[in-house]
Amino acid sequence: MNLHITLLPGDGIGPEVIAEAVRVLDAIAARYNHTIRYTERLIGGCSIDRFGQSLTEETLADCLASDAVLLGAVGGPQWDDLNAKDRPERGLLALRKGLGVFANLRPVKAHPPLIDASPLKPEKLAGVDLIVVRELTGGLYFGQPKERRLRNGYEWAVDTLEYYDYEIRRVIELAFRLAAGRRKKVTSVDKANVLESSRLWRQIATQVGREHSEITLEHVLVDTAAMRLIASPAALDVVVTENMFGDILTDEASVLAGSMGLLPSASLGEQGPGLYEPIHGSAPDIAGRGIANPIGAILSAAMMLRYSFQLEAEATAIEQAVERAIADGARTADLGGTLRTTQMTDAIVAHL
Ligand code: NAD
Repeated sequence: MNLHITLLPGDGIGPEVIAEAVRVLDAIAARYNHTIRYTERLIGGCSIDRFGQSLTEETLADCLASDAVLLGAVGGPQWDDLNAKDRPERGLLALRKGLGVFANLRPVKAHPPLIDASPLKPEKLAGVDLIVVRELTGGLYFGQPKERRLRNGYEWAVDTLEYYDYEIRRVIELAFRLAAGRRKKVTSVDKANVLESSRLWRQIATQVGREHSEITLEHVLVDTAAMRLIASPAALDVVVTENMFGDILTDEASVLAGSMGLLPSASLGEQGPGLYEPIHGSAPDIAGRGIANPIGAILSAAMMLRYSFQLEAEATAIEQAVERAIADGARTADLGGTLRTTQMTDAIVAHL
């Protein structure tokens, strides 16, 4: 198969972990007889420095012209001025919007050998294997009006939480499709006791649930969901929710795995290239030291093979190699070990 991938390494540890994901992809391509063509472009702070913009039209066009996009991370203290004309995260939001990727998938697994790395009690973590599906292109982060001005002599600010029925339906349908291949349970998270947008969300989740009688659907309020993620995470399978609730719950869920550095994500739309990125940020505190954990980026590459190219065997091979390397004791600093970024990848490639 011929695969054309756009690489957007970004800032901080982004380039360090993307280089490792590319090593693993190249090893897979050699083993399974695929040809991968990479196009590398700038995004985030490095793009602001070079072009004055966090995402240029040319870069977005190149992403759209490829089969899939693999991104590292954006941001850093040098671009943190809240009043700046452009900021690294704006490039990321524009990329998601431009690619039309409305669903962000974040799987979270507790690896038995790493259970001690999590702050939760081991008995709470046994059997944790969930996936959060977060709506990504609507809701509070995009709704209009979104502004700040003087009103009646006071500083005033507004954001808008809005959804159309079709935006809700497509992401909930995707969650049900995922659940069909898993433990057949969907937990739809909303705040229907207070928010009108959540009442529409719940109504549509109920409708989609009726079309999938083989899958169990439960509705949970977001505050309860936050508790359940810590109190009984193993009972969750597919969790689907709107943009901001998902933003918060996915970071909470990441604690279950023991380190941010372990977790991948995929952002998918109805058509066009998917966007794959580790969930962590640019980690300026460790950037340039060669000690970042590359597993989140490597597992994101595995998700890319699965969802953008339907290469299930190749994706599973990478996931199993990661499991085996961890079982063998391979640990970067965030997991209490001493392996450098490249050595962690060596351990994974050795198990491919
Ligand atoms: P962060 O995820 O970058 O780092 C949080 C902590 O986790 C740090 O101590 C870091 O060293 C550690 N960490 C993260 N990834 C790691 C890895 N792969 N291996 C080992 N340790 C790892 O979050 P932050 O510090 O809040 O943000 C730093 C910058 O990243 C900010 O500019 C923020 O805006 C940006 N950010 C970007 C994204 C993104 O690009 N998707 C996401 C979150 C934050």
